[in-house]
Amino acid sequence: MTQVLLLGGTFDAYVLSTLLSEAGVPAVYSYAGATQTRRTPALPMRVGGFGGVDGLLAYLREHGISHVIDATHPFAAQMSRNAHAACAAAGIPLLSMERPGWSLQAGDQWISVPDMQAAAQVVASGAPPRFRSVFLAIGRKQLAAFAHQASEQRYVLRVVDQTDEALPLPCGSYELIVARGPFALEDEMALLKRHAVDCIVSKNAGGPDTYAKIEAARALQIPVIMVDRPVLPEREQCQSPQQAMAWLRQRL
Ligand code: NAP
Repeated sequence: MTQVLLLGGTFDAYVLSTLLSEAGVPAVYSYAGATQTRRTPALPMRVGGFGGVDGLLAYLREHGISHVIDATHPFAAQMSRNAHAACAAAGIPLLSMERPGWSLQAGDQWISVPDMQAAAQVVASGAPPRFRSVFLAIGRKQLAAFAHQASEQRYVLRVVDQTDEALPLPCGSYELIVARGPFALEDEMALLKRHAVDCIVSKNAGGPDTYAKIEAARALQIPVIMVDRPVLPEREQCQSPQQAMAWLRQRL
C-alpha cells in the first residue's frame, strides 16, 4: 500500500503537497514546527520532530510509510541525515528534492565558506574590523556564531517570525527586521542603503524568493559571505516537485 511521508518546510514541498493531493496519492506532510507562520498543505499534516532516527523509524513502521520524500531546506541537515538513516534501516525508498544552489555571476563578490563558523570568522576579521554593518540573512538558529562582535560592528538581522525569545547577541548591537520573502530587488537595495550594509552573510539556499539580496549586493558592489550547503549522504535526488512526482509514478 502506498503512503508517502513528505518532509516539508519549503515552498517546493508545499507545491508538491498540492500535486500529491491532486493526484490522489495517500501522503502525510510533516512540519518541524519551527516557525509560527506556515502554509497549510493540501494533505493531512503532522507537526514536530520524530525523536531522532529511532523515533522516525518507529513512525515509518507504525504508519506503514512506503516512500519518503525529503523536501526540507538544503540547510536542514539533521533531518536529512535522520531520514537517510531511518529509510536505510527500514528499506524504504527515499528521494531528496532540493532546488539548485545559486552560482556566481559576473560582478558578484562572494567569499565562499564551508559553514557558519567560518562565516563568523570572516566577519570578525581585521582590526579595525573589515566590515561594520553586516546583514545576517541567515534566520535565527545560527546567530550564536556571531556573538563575538567588535564594538564598531552592527548587525542587521532578518527573521521570519516575531519572537520574545532573547537572541544570542549583545543587546543594542543589532537591528531586527521581521519579514518573510519573496523580496523584491528595489526593496533589498533600499534596505542595504538604509543600513549602510557593507557585507551580507547568506546561506546558498537557491531559488528565487530570497535571491534579490544577492542581486542587490551585486548592483551595490557589496561582498557576500556565502555559506555552502552541508555535505549529506548520497541519496536519490531531484530538483523540482514535478520531478518528484515522476519519481513516485515510476514506483507506484
Ligand atoms: P534540522 O536542523 O535538520 O532539524 C532539526 C530537527 O527538527 C530534526 O532532527 C527533527 O527533529 C526536526 N525536523 C526538521 N524538519 C522536520 C520536518 N519536516 N518534520 C518533522 N521534524 C522535523 O532542521 P532546521 O534547520 O532546524 O529546519 C527546521 C525546518 O525548517 C525544516 O523542516 C526545514 O525544511 C525548514 N527550514 C529550514 C531552513 C534553514 O535554513 N535551516 C530554512 C527554511 C526552512 P527530530 O530529530 O526530533 O525528528
